[in-house]
Amino acid sequence: MIVVHVLQNGLAICLFSDDIPVNWPAGHGWINPHDVEKMGIESITCPECRRLVERLLEGKWKIRVETI
Ligand SMILES: [Zn+2]
Repeated sequence: MIVVHVLQNGLAICLFSDDIPVNWPAGHGWINPHDVEKMGIESITCPECRRLVERLLEGKWKIRVETI
């Protein structure tokens, strides 16, 4: 089971690593914010990333996605 994080500006939004995905340890994956809108929040398996996205969805997440 891979831990799927949400990627923004090249980093996971939970900041579990301060490095880019290619240097992450095995077992971690990522999804783009606009893919979360298509695939659903269930596709995020990192609890911290999911919590952050749930909070962002209540606010300006859509605006941020459109400006990427
Ligand atoms: Zn995460």
